[in-house]
Amino acid sequence: MDTLAQGYGSGTGIGSDGTSAPLWLLAELTYRCPLHCAFCYNPVDLESHGPELDTEEWLRVISDARKLGAVQIGFSGGEPLVRDDLEVLVAHARGLGFYTNLITSGVGLTETRIAALKLAGLDHIQLSFQDSTRELNDFLSSTKTFELKRKVAQLIKAHGYPMVLNCVLHRFNLPHVGQIIEMALDIGAEYLELANTQYYGWAMLNREQLMPTKEALREAEDTVNRYRAMVGERCRILFVVPDYFETRPKACMNGWGSVFLGVAPDGTALPCHAAKTLPGLQLPNVKDASLSQVWYESGAFNAFRGEDWMQEPCRSCDERGKDHGGCRCQAYALTGDARAADPVCSKSPKHAEVEKVVAFARDARAVEERPLVFRSMRRG
Ligand code: SF4
Ligand code: SF4
Repeated sequence: MDTLAQGYGSGTGIGSDGTSAPLWLLAELTYRCPLHCAFCYNPVDLESHGPELDTEEWLRVISDARKLGAVQIGFSGGEPLVRDDLEVLVAHARGLGFYTNLITSGVGLTETRIAALKLAGLDHIQLSFQDSTRELNDFLSSTKTFELKRKVAQLIKAHGYPMVLNCVLHRFNLPHVGQIIEMALDIGAEYLELANTQYYGWAMLNREQLMPTKEALREAEDTVNRYRAMVGERCRILFVVPDYFETRPKACMNGWGSVFLGVAPDGTALPCHAAKTLPGLQLPNVKDASLSQVWYESGAFNAFRGEDWMQEPCRSCDERGKDHGGCRCQAYALTGDARAADPVCSKSPKHAEVEKVVAFARDARAVEERPLVFRSMRRG
């Protein structure tokens, strides 16, 4: 974020109606991925999406986002390394002054590619693991990738990047949280994100099987706190509790159309990762509209901006400025109404739906009887 190319980022960052500019562009370059994670947040109808944007189209999106005022870009997917133009896109973004971040499973990150990405100016790499054991890592991703990830972690370190690891947590690997932290320390991680599964996409399909019990969650949190006290600043450990166990929802995307602008592989612009699941929302495509039109003028990005859309209990709630009513996609998935209060909230009349799912997780036999559905380009 140290170089602002001429002509970029010079605006006020505020639209004529007072809407602030996006700060973060998430470029979902592709839905292709060699892994098949059962908790993947990608859509479950992967085969029904249009062709991926080509290099020129992505270059334009990146330039337009920078002109709008965005300062950080995440290259994600699927697995962004399956695109052989990744280095070109990174170099372009870095040249415009973006802080550039690669979110990867590590598959495809060879010595040659990491050197090229370094040369292109890539600032940051976040590497995901599925577990601290080969067995569970490989089972959950339905691939043999554990050893490869360890090698990629060494490469990342050797190229002078901060070591940033991510592991999605759920019923299967929560009991391993201590070993996961040990593995991260062994690898030399400076940051470890232990993010409990958010239930979208494939994770929603597998929600009952992935949902932990309250006790397992509490034990894992205690373990994390013990390690935090032991390792201090040597490794920052983030532990993100699943919302289903909270009584207030997360401030999803920090508010709809507030800071986050996602672009899906086919160019669909997304105010939130899961926005495609909301019925009746006409999501704009960057092929048909400028990013400025998408952000400031499109119906989709204005649909839940601010507070006018809110219903009770959110409309008159004194906490609405904190969580913006929670997640619209979660509200729709659990109540059938995208304008409803996120039912994670104990003030929601549908909060019992969330409690029901959590209660189901206690019934180990019922959970075991349901097989996991692994992510694949073609369902079924
Ligand atoms: S969660 Fe797993 S399957 Fe989904 S994109 Fe990431 S690595 Fe690929
Ligand atoms: S009622 Fe709505 S605004 Fe209030 S805390 Fe719950 S979700 Fe947030």
